[in-house]
Amino acid sequence: MALNTKDYCAGFRHEFKSFATDAIHVGQEPEQWKSMAVVPPISLSTTFKQYAPGKHAGFEYSRSGNPTRNCLERAVAALDGAKYCVALASGLAATVTITHLLKSGDGIVCMNDVYGGTNRYFRRVAAEIGYDISFVDCTKPEELKAALKLNTKLLWLETPTNPTMKVVDIEACSAIAHEHSKDLIVVVDNTFMSAYFQRPLSLGADICMYSATKYMNGHSDVIMGLISVNREDLYEQLKFLQNALGSVPSPFDCYLCNRGLKTLPLRMKQHFRNAMAVAQFLEADPRVDKVIFPGVPSHPQYELMKRQCTGCPGMITFYIKGKLEHATAFLSNLKLFALAESLGGYESLAEHPAIMTHASVSENERMQLGITDTLIRLSVGLEDEEDIIADLDQALSAAHPKK
Ligand SMILES: *Cc1c(COP(=O)(O)O)cnc(C)c1O
Repeated sequence: MALNTKDYCAGFRHEFKSFATDAIHVGQEPEQWKSMAVVPPISLSTTFKQYAPGKHAGFEYSRSGNPTRNCLERAVAALDGAKYCVALASGLAATVTITHLLKSGDGIVCMNDVYGGTNRYFRRVAAEIGYDISFVDCTKPEELKAALKLNTKLLWLETPTNPTMKVVDIEACSAIAHEHSKDLIVVVDNTFMSAYFQRPLSLGADICMYSATKYMNGHSDVIMGLISVNREDLYEQLKFLQNALGSVPSPFDCYLCNRGLKTLPLRMKQHFRNAMAVAQFLEADPRVDKVIFPGVPSHPQYELMKRQCTGCPGMITFYIKGKLEHATAFLSNLKLFALAESLGGYESLAEHPAIMTHASVSENERMQLGITDTLIRLSVGLEDEEDIIADLDQALSAAHPKK
């Protein structure tokens, strides 16, 4: 509760009840093991002995079900306020598995500003095998309404978007989609927010998915995807596809991600705190043109953010004054921040979207989205606030030396 009484998160929705307790206990009951292990064991066995043909203790073969994976899936479901969860080998494996709920010829409407790999999969793979994909700016409800067709079966949302931090109203978009057709499946890629800051299922979405590679695992040492649902029919289909398509995570990775979840509330609070300090520092700095962070009143959708979320993660985008050479000098001179792709780990990272993560987006599209040569994306980590700010300050000085 302390989080909601501090200035930096004033006005945000309250955090979800018993979140930290659930993160630590749901799915982790010692009684499920003969040994009464308090920490779930890593169950590496690929196969499980049966009492008689077809009679077993709940597991047959590790692709179709694994004890360590079970612990993780049950914990994640609780954190999403969901009934069910399935874990996959990567965020993109989750995206592919969800798309397999549809048949070729079915329509998918996707937010126009989504993770590069999602964009690539829809445009270069799914469209090639007969899915009817269209991209629309879902921050404009009338454009979404116009884009829904008779064959539309799936709406893919991501919020906030990467790297320009547009915020999509999940409740409004879900209502439009379900008004169009009760069966239309609304998916929210919740990677940026994590379960701690946003619960898409409670806002009307049918599926909440993650690249657990980012905040959910939070330690930059696992590639994994997660899908949470409340609808039993969707769970049955996804569970079938998890086994039938086969892109399951390893028991060791499930153990690591399950472990990462234990500190998710602590990590997210600190990411928010540090990001808030960085956003305020950058906003006041004359060497910076503009800061985009949904946790400050200058963000155009700050009010929506406060209504929809319980806080903000460590993702900050800003435009440095000058040209490409200033952005390059800034990034090359960072010492604490690593110049690297990815996000959501305990360590601070910085990157240049136009050259790095969004290089596959055409220049024309990049300009439309505002991904210019001076745009820099930060994933603010969990180091000490003063050290994070001191590093940004010295790198800004290196980019803009006093004459
Ligand atoms: C990283 C990421 C993905 C893809 O996940 P992988 O685990 O890398 O396959 C999907 N969506 C978002 C928003 C991401 O940041």
